[in-house]
Amino acid sequence: GQQTRVAVVTGTNRGIGLAILRTLASGWAGPLVVYAASRSGTLPSGVSAQPHVKVLPARLSLRDPDSIEALASRVAKEQGVVDVLINNAGVYHYREGISDEERAETLETNHRGTLRMCQAFLPLMRRPGGRVVNVSSQAGRLRWFAPHLRPRFLAKDLTLDALDSLVREYDAAAARGDEVRLGWPAHAYSVSKAALNASTRILAKEHPGVLINCCCPGWVSTDLGAQAGPPPKTPEEGARIPLHLAFGDIGDVTGRYWANDSTADTGV
Ligand code: NDP
Repeated sequence: GQQTRVAVVTGTNRGIGLAILRTLASGWAGPLVVYAASRSGTLPSGVSAQPHVKVLPARLSLRDPDSIEALASRVAKEQGVVDVLINNAGVYHYREGISDEERAETLETNHRGTLRMCQAFLPLMRRPGGRVVNVSSQAGRLRWFAPHLRPRFLAKDLTLDALDSLVREYDAAAARGDEVRLGWPAHAYSVSKAALNASTRILAKEHPGVLINCCCPGWVSTDLGAQAGPPPKTPEEGARIPLHLAFGDIGDVTGRYWANDSTADTGV
C-alpha cells in the first residue's frame, strides 16, 4: 500500500493549528499519523479522523526545552522518521509597552522555542523530501525595521549564534525603552518573527534535502488575529498556505518566506 506519512503540528488546540489538524484528520487522502502537540497535551473535542488518519495527542510547551526533547524522542521511537513539521504555535501581545515578561515570552516562544523544535526534529526528517513549515507573519518583514538593521538579518554568513545576539541586542534596547529610537519595530512580535524568518534561511542552507520555509497565513480570525480588528480569513483559510508548504507542490523551494498571496520572497 501507500507509505504512511508522519506529521507533527504544534498549537493544535485552537486557531490555525486546530484548522490544520481538522483539515488533515478529515480530508487527507492517504495513510497519515499526526502528532497534535499542545500545552495541555489533550485533543480538542470535535476532531474526527478518517480511519486511515491516526491523530496522537502530545504535550509540548515551546518554553520548556525538555518537553521539546521528549516529543522528538517519542516520535523517533514510535515512527523513526518525520515527513512534515509544522511549527504553528506562537504568541502575540498586541499592545505597545508590554512587560519584560511578555517580551521574554514572545522571543522565547516564537524565536527560540520554534528554533529548538527545528533543531530537535531535523535529524528525524525524511531525506530527501521532508518539509518544515514555520508559521511566521508579515509583521516580521524587514521593511518594518530601520534600513541599517535589515542587512544584519539578511547577511549571507549570519549564524544562529549571531542571530541570537541580534535578538538580545533588541531585548536590551527594549528593556531600556530605547528600541524604537534605535530603529526596531514597536512590537516584540515583529522581532520574534523576523528572527524566525532568518533562522528559516540559515537552517535551509545547512540542511539541503529538507525543504524549510516560513509563511504568513494571512490575517485570520483566531484569538490572536482578532486582537487587531475583525480579520478577513477563517482559520480554515489560514491553514491553506501552511498546508500547501507542508504537502503541496512547491518544487525545490527552500529557505523562503511565503506571503499571504502564496508567492515566495526574501522576507524584506
Ligand atoms: P491562537 O492564539 O489562536 O493560537 C496560538 C496557539 O499557539 C495556541 O494553540 C497556543 O496554545 C499555542 N502556544 C502559545 N504559546 C505556546 C507555548 N509556549 N508552547 C506551546 N504552544 C504555545 O493564534 P493563531 O492560530 O492565530 O496563530 C497561529 C500562528 O499563526 C502563530 O504563529 C501566529 O503568530 C501566526 N499568525 C497568525 C495571524 C492571524 O491573523 N491569526 C497572522 C499572522 C501570523 P494554548 O492554547 O495552550 O495557549
